Amino acid sequence: MLEGGFIKHVCGDHPFKSEGLFYRFKEDERDAGHTEDNLSWHSVLPQLEGLGNIAPKDLPDAIGDSSDMVQKNDLDHLPHMMFDEHNADLFDNVHPIKWVDPNSEGKYDMLVIGGGAGGLVTAAGSSGVGAKVALIERNFLGGDCLNTGCVPSKAFLKCANVIHAARTAGEYGIEITGEIKCNFPVVMERMRKIRAEISDNDSANRFSKALGIDVYMGHAKFTGKNEVEINGKKLTFLKACIATGGRPAKPDVAGIENVPHFTSDNVFNMTTQPKNMVIVGAGPIGAELGQAFQRLGTNVTFICRGDDFLPREDRDAAEHLVWQLKKDGCQFMHSSTIQSAECLDQGDQSAGKLPQVKLVIKEGEAEKNVEVDTILFAIGRKPNVTGMGLEIAGVEFDEHDGVYTNEYMKTTNADIFSVGDCLALASSAEEAKFNPGSGF
Ligand SMILES: Cc1cc2nc3c(=O)[nH]c(=O)nc-3n(C[C@H](O)[C@H](O)[C@H](O)COP(=O)(O)OP(=O)(O)OC[C@H]3O[C@@H](n4cnc5c(N)ncnc54)[C@H](O)[C@@H]3O)c2cc1C
Repeated sequence: MLEGGFIKHVCGDHPFKSEGLFYRFKEDERDAGHTEDNLSWHSVLPQLEGLGNIAPKDLPDAIGDSSDMVQKNDLDHLPHMMFDEHNADLFDNVHPIKWVDPNSEGKYDMLVIGGGAGGLVTAAGSSGVGAKVALIERNFLGGDCLNTGCVPSKAFLKCANVIHAARTAGEYGIEITGEIKCNFPVVMERMRKIRAEISDNDSANRFSKALGIDVYMGHAKFTGKNEVEINGKKLTFLKACIATGGRPAKPDVAGIENVPHFTSDNVFNMTTQPKNMVIVGAGPIGAELGQAFQRLGTNVTFICRGDDFLPREDRDAAEHLVWQLKKDGCQFMHSSTIQSAECLDQGDQSAGKLPQVKLVIKEGEAEKNVEVDTILFAIGRKPNVTGMGLEIAGVEFDEHDGVYTNEYMKTTNADIFSVGDCLALASSAEEAKFNPGSGF
């Protein structure tokens, strides 16, 4: 914060300051964003429970007469969702069923696009030092970390560690008698409950009411160097921050579009434990989830493109991890790629019936036919940088690398910064692109 000039900003005398916000009272919030009275995702649960993971485009039909309760313009960006009481609590916090955007006039000191870890911290920090702040999120506040990343994965891993501790308790002189088994639906429900409880911290209401930030729900697009469009309204800003994160890379496998498969985006929707799972990818996300599934009782096989597992990590550490994963029972296929995938049976997750999938895997020169019920792709991530007018704003980016920034997170537009998973730090040779600009 000090390095970014925020603290100096509060003390200094310059335009990037809204003194009114230092003394913001509840009655000043009438124009702030809010949920329409008494509306909650719980009110549509009876229509949705039991439908399994529902595609957003099917939501209005599934809700029937109440379809006007959902902001339809947002649906395209929402991932498949499963509805239960915990997720209804989560959505009430991070994507309220009918959020009314703030009715604010004037220029924002700081406009943040993306309400994940990077965006929330930027918005809260800026507001905390007196800036008039807008925060725009098209999907779920909390971003990957809360919804599909750190929080659900660590809650899931905890259960795997507990079962491992129980199985190895004898080594510590602790005797556990009887069969030690995983109750997978309970493991996943615990994860959803923890996620919902934590989500209050990242909620639209907290950011709007307690932190005094104007929260908008929808897809943001730059329409000028200092202008953004959201839900048909134009907002102007002195400074902006792009914190749009990333998404799992899409698999390039013949036939995969007709085969049920998972990425980190939907793996935490699972309710039925896979019997045998192929994990494509040799990175940290696959590694931690693979070990957890294996310890909970799924037979896990890692498909690694090259010779090494965790190729970007320190070799000694990676080899130690491989040793442990093998001890846990994981299998490895190296120099391997999936040539094609075919669905033999779609299964029905809501009825606990797993799909049956045939994979043709090339391992070195050999071709193998493998049948599994679950495929998880953890093959890297892509930054969210397209379809948001970065070209119009004069922000240079690359579809694979992300938004280019200098070491101060400044983009090629001196008024726009970028943080988190969507950015690519420029090499020193490229630093020349960055206009020193006005800074703060
Ligand atoms: C399975 C898994 C486990 C992980 N575990 C850990 C861990 O243990 N520790 C750790 O430090 N990290 C972990 N991570 C990584 C961590 O989740 C990310 O680094 C972090 O969430 C990135 O935050 P972000 O703010 O950059 O992006 P995100 O959290 O992705 O947030 C970006 C937000 O921007 C929104 N958005 C995108 N475009 C627009 C637009 N045009 N308009 C409006 N909104 C938009 C998106 O909907 C999203 O909500 C994990 C990730 C995964 C997938």
